[in-house]
Amino acid sequence: MNSFTQSTSFFGGSNPEELARSFGTPLYVYNEAILRDRMRHMQGLIRSVPFTANYSIKTNSNLTLLRIALEEGLSADAMSPGEIEFLLRAGFPQERIFYVANNVSDEELRFAIDRGIMTSLDSVSQLERFGRLNPNGKCALRLNPGVGAGHHEKVITAGKKTKFAIAQEDIDHAKIVANKYNLKIVGVNQHIGSLFMDATPYLQAIENFLQLAKGFEDLEFVDFGGGFGIPYRKLSGEKTLDIDATSKALDHICEQFAKEYGKPIVFKIEPGRYIAAESCVLIGRVHSLKQNAGVHYVGTDIGMNVLVRPSMYGSWHDIEVYRDGEVLSSDDQTAIYTVVGNICETGDILAKDRTLPIVRENDLLVVLDAGAYGYCMSSNYNNRLKAAEVMIGTDGLPQLIRRRQTLEDLFREFPGF
Ligand SMILES: *Cc1c(COP(=O)(O)O)cnc(C)c1O
Repeated sequence: MNSFTQSTSFFGGSNPEELARSFGTPLYVYNEAILRDRMRHMQGLIRSVPFTANYSIKTNSNLTLLRIALEEGLSADAMSPGEIEFLLRAGFPQERIFYVANNVSDEELRFAIDRGIMTSLDSVSQLERFGRLNPNGKCALRLNPGVGAGHHEKVITAGKKTKFAIAQEDIDHAKIVANKYNLKIVGVNQHIGSLFMDATPYLQAIENFLQLAKGFEDLEFVDFGGGFGIPYRKLSGEKTLDIDATSKALDHICEQFAKEYGKPIVFKIEPGRYIAAESCVLIGRVHSLKQNAGVHYVGTDIGMNVLVRPSMYGSWHDIEVYRDGEVLSSDDQTAIYTVVGNICETGDILAKDRTLPIVRENDLLVVLDAGAYGYCMSSNYNNRLKAAEVMIGTDGLPQLIRRRQTLEDLFREFPGF
């Protein structure tokens, strides 16, 4: 079987054509069973020591997903007051929220302090602000372990070329500032980048990071960050991250550290993509076919406003083609296509020079692995409306979990119109 959606019964008792007719396109479709499965992988990653997985909600903050994360026992990371508010609204208690702040205002820090939410500061200057606002308080520091990793220069968030975290040489200064305000540093965290398929750089960064962590006396937790990758080229056989091997290595490292540190300590991770990406596909309709200078274009309603990753990072998403509710086999006759959207930008390209079964007008394209950095990065560019989101429940039935935007939603932002 070379169809991911078929082999996983992704659409339950439905098919993309029925979903497209009921809910319109473009449409984000989630599969609850896959989502819960990935959450459990992350929850079970470390077993030898006290451990929690924090779902990084910037990946996908649909309230239904957040509620499922809560049910599955995950904690959560927030990057902004908006994300904190979503978590509280979804039912997360404040002690299960971790605010990883980057270059934020006093007002934003105050927002977290007032709600009793643990906050990580990622520069000495932010620590100073936090100290002025919350003397005698507790906080965490985001440290740079000196090693980065990721699928693109833009998503590597440690090492030398990054705006994030406190460098090793600034740690002493940070401690002086913490002392000045009698702040207790109870946690240290890192996040080295996004989408590693080989855990070696991650484990290397953790070793460096734990060396730095030893220099703090009052730690209650250490947090290794996210970045766990998923196979975006699964249709051509790309393997998943070796979770068992990663888990074993982490168990060992953590046990060792817990012994040396000598005080009770909780270990944390911050996965985003791994949890959400594979649980979701994006369905769009083919509205036109064209040949220009030898290139065959497939014109769809999946513009860069709907899914920006390909045009922003050059990311690859596998695509399946459905006709009348049935998936076309990649063993059938194929052609090379450039798949584009309906946005007025030449860069509005979903997939370049892609081999697909012969495509016809009105076919549906099912874009895989769209659950992470998909909907949340979508925009109203060209005054297009944001898509709807549907979840196939464990009962196999589709349920609307976010309605499609309306033009009225856009007008609502303008006073007097
Ligand atoms: C983005 C981010 C994450 C999640 O990254 P993934 O690659 O989606 O796992 C975790 N922690 C921090 C601080 C982040 O900025």
